[in-house]
Order: sequence, then structure tokens, then C-alpha cells
Amino acid sequence: MAYKTINPYNNELVKEYDDTTDQELQDTLERAHDLYKTFKTQDIKERSKMLHRVADKIRERSDELARTCTIEMGKLLVEAKGEVELCAVIADYFADHAEEMLKPEKVETSANGKAEIHHQSTGVIMMVEPWNFPYYQMIRVFAPNFMVGNPMILKHASNTPSSAQLMADVIEEAGAPKGSITNLFMNYDQVSETIADSRVQGVALTGSERGGATVAKTAGENLKQSTLELGGMDPFIVMDDADMDDVAEIAWRSRIYNAGQECTSSKRFIVMEDVYDDFVERLKNNFSKLKPGDPLKDDTTLAPMNTKKAKEELQDQLDEAINAGAQVVYGNEPIDLPGQFFMPTILTHVDKDNPAHKTEMFGPVAVVYKVSSEEEAIALANDNPYGLGAIVFTGDSQRGAEIATKIETGMVYVNNFRYSLPELPFGGVKRSGYGREMSRIGLMAFVNDKLILTADKPDMDNLASGLVASKNLDNK
Ligand code: NAP
Repeated sequence: MAYKTINPYNNELVKEYDDTTDQELQDTLERAHDLYKTFKTQDIKERSKMLHRVADKIRERSDELARTCTIEMGKLLVEAKGEVELCAVIADYFADHAEEMLKPEKVETSANGKAEIHHQSTGVIMMVEPWNFPYYQMIRVFAPNFMVGNPMILKHASNTPSSAQLMADVIEEAGAPKGSITNLFMNYDQVSETIADSRVQGVALTGSERGGATVAKTAGENLKQSTLELGGMDPFIVMDDADMDDVAEIAWRSRIYNAGQECTSSKRFIVMEDVYDDFVERLKNNFSKLKPGDPLKDDTTLAPMNTKKAKEELQDQLDEAINAGAQVVYGNEPIDLPGQFFMPTILTHVDKDNPAHKTEMFGPVAVVYKVSSEEEAIALANDNPYGLGAIVFTGDSQRGAEIATKIETGMVYVNNFRYSLPELPFGGVKRSGYGREMSRIGLMAFVNDKLILTADKPDMDNLASGLVASKNLDNK
């Protein structure tokens, strides 16, 4: 049995789930495809009402949702509660705005007649999601696609089956028709079969490059649309005119939130030499105040990592970085608790040949670099295979905005903590993937942008040449 809930705080096996059979998968595909046909003729206002009810139900069941997630993958309960509320916010947003965003658009054209683009559903969408934000990852694909009218089949991570099933149940209990999102405990072959199935029109994956490449390959072979939200090594640039109190407060949070297991965690701190010592000192100080313990308890501030395997892999990466010359200025000591705790660690002197320079460390390890100019900071930020997000701190927000334009990532936050809100597009470039989730861009990911050109009679003048006359648009 591959799908298991194991509490990373005490290593207890909480629940195991039976694998999905091929027959269950076929039944799910059939039901989802039937629902797609129903959605096609349904007034979008109906789904808007349902999605608001989903938001209400998420809020009503928020305590249970948050506790389930904390027990399953270890995040602090306060963070789990925040994630659950964000899901409700996302559902409400798309319930409120999708109809307007999907309205047909007129196109100025030299063709004969009235041209419009209608944004319509395409069919069943496969979603493959990771454990680190078990609910948010689901909802940011589900809410927009539900409004579009694309039913979804979910393959969630094998270590977060309880969260996946609970959220899918909450959505159905709120009144979304059966088949709107079906959570299945699938193996990789079943995921490939689903993507290849003629009733499925696309796949959205959030996860590693390894998983992303495999799923995108299957999608490509079957000529299906795909979006990939993959890893990141986000830079956090500190200019010498930055407010160091703000920097100190945001920097440790930006690395330790979700026990450092976030794609948009700040993983590389790039700090101007004049403020470097101050920065490192304050980061050490803030890391040293963290208190490991039961993530369900309010006074715990350092959560365990999500699995034993994740912790061991991070330790291997850290050992490799140290062997290659990195210096530990804080951390890398065992934590005397049975759970999967990892001591927050700060590395310096990571040179370009060190594997830590270009390999994502998905846990509480911060790499700090010293630079002596803005150009050097930007070049270092861009010297990376990933391009997801970035943070820039400077006393001059205009200068920050200019730096932002030069950074090769999908998102840059100037003098800000990271935001993840339904109106803001989320996604990256380079090896962080392609496509966007959330915002109108995310809503349009699996939409048929259908051209409808309507005339009363054909234009006969140019038929012989096979060309349509190019009229002056201004004179139309
Ligand atoms: P992962 O191993 O790729 O797992 C993510 C999901 O993909 C899981 O459901 C996993 O299933 C599935 N999967 C993996 N290989 C597959 C395959 N060949 N066929 C079908 N499904 C497959 O990723 P992870 O390492 O657990 O997650 C952390 C990564 O996700 C990090 O790199 C992080 O940066 C990235 N991430 C990105 C974003 C973003 O929005 N850009 C957000 C969060 C996380 P199993 O669990 O059964 O293996």
C-alpha cells in the first residue's frame, strides 16, 4: 500500500489507504467526462454559487482540516489554519470573478463579420499535487477549473492521502457535483494512462523536476496541454540601504515558514558587504530562538520536516555542501526529539562549484553570499537553473523595482514578504516550470479560446484568390 499517513512528529502510522483499481479509474473518467458535458450547458452562475458554498464549508471545517494536515505532514497548526483560510479566499475569489474574466472578447478584424473569442471548457483535467501545501495546491487548480467547467482527477502525494481525501470530501459535501474533483490513490502508470485517455485534455503538476519532466513527457507524447510548477532557489537580495530591522524580521520567516519546505522559500541570501555581518548575526539570532516541538501546540515554532526520507536527503545534501567547502556558521546539529526535526542551518562560502550553489535544498538551510555591487547581486541571483520567485530589500523602492526587472524569475517582491493570493499570478521560468496558476492567467490555463466569426453573408469579392481582403481596421 503506497498511500500512508505517518505523523512526522512522533512517527506513528495513522492510516493506510487502498490503491485505486483500474476499474475505479475507468469509472472516474466516465463520470468526470459526463460531468464535463453537463457543465458545458450549465449557467456559470450555478457553479459560482456552489464554489461560494465550498468556501463556506472549508471555513466551517477549518479546525479539522488544519489538524489533519498538521498530523499528516507536520506543519505548525497556525500555518495550517492560514493555508485553510487561503483556500476559502481562493474559492470565493474565483466564484466572484470568473464569469467576468471568461466573458467573450470582441476582436477588431479585417475579416468579414463580427469576430469574438469565447473562453470555453476543454474537458477533464488531471492534477498531480505535492504534500507541502496539501490543500492550497489542490484549490488553486480546482477553483478556477471548476468555474471554467473542467472536472478534475487528483493524484496527490503518497504521504498526504488524508488531507487530499478530506478536502475532496468537503468540496462534495458543499454541493459540488460528484466528479468535480475525484481524489484517487493512483500509481504513476495510472497517471500516465489518465493523461493519455482521450477524455482528458490536460495536466497540471506541482512538484519536482523529476516528476514534472515525466508527466510533461507523457502529456507531450499525447499532445495534451500541461502546466508545471516546479522547484525554486529564490534569491533574497539585501542592498546596503535596506532597513535592516525589516530585513531581519522577514529573512528568517522566509526560510523557516513550512519548515523551509516551500518552493518560494528564500534559499539564497545575497547580501551587500556593508550589511553582511549584521545580516548573518541577526539571522543566527532569530534561528536560535526557534523552539522545536509538537506542531499542534501554540508555543512550538519549529516544525518537523514531512518525512524521515526528506530529512535524510537534506542531511546528505548538507554534508555534500560542507565537504565541498561550505562553512557552517550556525546549526547542523541533531535535535533530540523522535520526530523528523532538522536544526535550522546557515551556510556561507558556497562557491560556484559547490553542489549547494545550484541544487535546491528543501528544508531549513539558508545559504548566504556576500556581494559588493548591485550588478554582482543581480548576476548571482540569475546564476541559477531555477527562476521562480525573488525578494529584494532596499531603502529606495524605485531602485528595487528596477532591480526586479533584471531578475530572471516569474515573481519578484520588493520590500515585501511573499504573497500568494488568487488575484496574483503564480509560477516561474527556467527549470521552475511553465504556465501560471491563480489570477486570470491561471484561469485560462485549460480553456478553449474559441474564435467565432459571424457574418450575415460571405464576402464574395476575394474568394478566387483564396485571400480575404485586408481592410483598414480604422475604417471599419
Ligand atoms: P514530487 O516527488 O515530484 O511529487 C509531487 C507529486 O508528483 C506527488 O503527487 C508525486 O507522487 C507525483 N509524482 C512524482 N513523480 C511522478 C511521476 N513520474 N508520475 C506521476 N506522478 C508523479 O515532488 P516533491 O519532491 O515531493 O515536492 C517538492 C518539490 O515541489 C520541490 O522541488 C518544490 O520546490 C516543488 N514545489 C513547487 C511549487 C510551485 O508552485 N512551483 C509548489 C510547491 C512545491 P508520489 O508522492 O506518489 O511520489
